Amino acid sequence: MLYNSTQNAAEVVSSAQAIAQGISKDGGLFVPQEFPKYDENTFKALLKSDYKGRAKKVFSDFLTDFTNEEIDDCVEKAYTSEKFGSENPAPLAFCNVDGKTLNILELWHGPTCAFKDMALQILPHLLTKSLKKTYDGKVAVILVATSGDTGKAALEGFKDVDNTKIIVFYPVDGVSPMQKHQMNTQEGNNVRVCAIKGNFDDAQTGVKKIFTTADVSNKLAENDMLFSSANSINWGRLLPQIVYYISAYCDMVNSGKIKLGDKINVVVPTGNFGNILASYYASLMGLPINKFICASNSNNVLTDFIKTGVYDKNRQFYTTISPSMDILVSSNLERLLYKLSGNSDTATKGWMTSLKSTGKYEVSDDVKAVIKEKFYGGYCDDTQTKATINKLFEKDNYLCDTHTAVAVNVYEQYVRETGDDTPSVIASTASPYKFSKSVLQAVAPDVKLPDTEFDMVDMLNEITDKEVPAPLSDLKNKAVRFSEVTEVDNMKNYVLGALEIE
Ligand SMILES: *Cc1c(COP(=O)(O)O)cnc(C)c1O
Repeated sequence: MLYNSTQNAAEVVSSAQAIAQGISKDGGLFVPQEFPKYDENTFKALLKSDYKGRAKKVFSDFLTDFTNEEIDDCVEKAYTSEKFGSENPAPLAFCNVDGKTLNILELWHGPTCAFKDMALQILPHLLTKSLKKTYDGKVAVILVATSGDTGKAALEGFKDVDNTKIIVFYPVDGVSPMQKHQMNTQEGNNVRVCAIKGNFDDAQTGVKKIFTTADVSNKLAENDMLFSSANSINWGRLLPQIVYYISAYCDMVNSGKIKLGDKINVVVPTGNFGNILASYYASLMGLPINKFICASNSNNVLTDFIKTGVYDKNRQFYTTISPSMDILVSSNLERLLYKLSGNSDTATKGWMTSLKSTGKYEVSDDVKAVIKEKFYGGYCDDTQTKATINKLFEKDNYLCDTHTAVAVNVYEQYVRETGDDTPSVIASTASPYKFSKSVLQAVAPDVKLPDTEFDMVDMLNEITDKEVPAPLSDLKNKAVRFSEVTEVDNMKNYVLGALEIE
């Protein structure tokens, strides 16, 4: 299977190349030229398989330049029960509210307690094998812009991985104290972490710019290095996310919630549009998905886009209690638009160019029509988010984080508006303990908050009796290693300095 750039169909690469490079030279994103099709028999086989087996099947159908041994090795190393707490790294939980069951796909049982682990525990293995195939002997420099969770998950995935170095930028006031502490205490000899004076979009734009600046890449090349990306623009990030939608569907069938062939809806708390795009890609392979419900917080640029076909990032940016979704430029939307425009690189390039120059674009009527038919966009604010956390806890003793609560809230809006009772899978993207302060305020509004993050964790634990994930409780005793804050304009120099190639 080959991949091409969303902005230049003539740029065709292997999957190893797509993963090693991260982003295409023309600034476009790599997409598979076709999607494997799964029929009833394929699904019947997948039903009998465990998560690793399902992952191996999906990976081998997309990464045709990898041997089966290579894929087995990646999957076996990534999804261990030591790292994810059980044999199924992405289990379903069932929460009953007002006589209805919410099917909650818990994607946060990995080492950093957010769904990013599902991809970032395997990406380093995919990347080192891709490098061997394409750029043997070179060191991959992973640049990451993070709204909190990607950074830690990438650091944890790449720490001390041979032939890689990783540099993470995060918005200084845009991540939770727990997220900041997770990153600033990161261990490993090949890691660097730096805060920037700006928001996530500034960090992401800064990283993209460094990626595409010729004198920087030349400097790297002279030193046997090359840039790669662990952001969800990397194909190696998206592919592992397809697996858990297929696996969740199989688990829904196996648990008797649906029959094989029945349609489901998926509900995804969305920021950069990676997670929801993976579910769309799964549907292109034959997974029967009725609606894609795209949930946003007050940064509701996607809600408006799905309703109107106009993407307009010229609006106020809100810092919310679901910080991993505080995003105004959803990078992976580009991949959806490419597909919906009939793989038109010129149309996609046009929209992305317009986004860059004016902060805005409007898609064609054809694309609008498909989006309207398949997608539903909704949003909720912080007050509604907390009310939703409170409700699930009060009604069924289920504790969810702020991002998941946004998804649940928007799903309820969808059901109220449409009456659609198709069984729905709601992606739960983080442990509630990653956002203890907000979750605590939600379940115990009258309690006096303690001063430190870790005391909040303890208090939340006392009130709810839900287990604190070990990776978070262990952080208390770790020393801070990184405390630098830099200007956005200085990101390039920071990178060159960190790599010692100024
Ligand atoms: C990254 C993240 C999201 C957003 O996912 P996208 O793939 O960027 O849309 C939602 N919730 C949490 C907890 C996250 O870490």
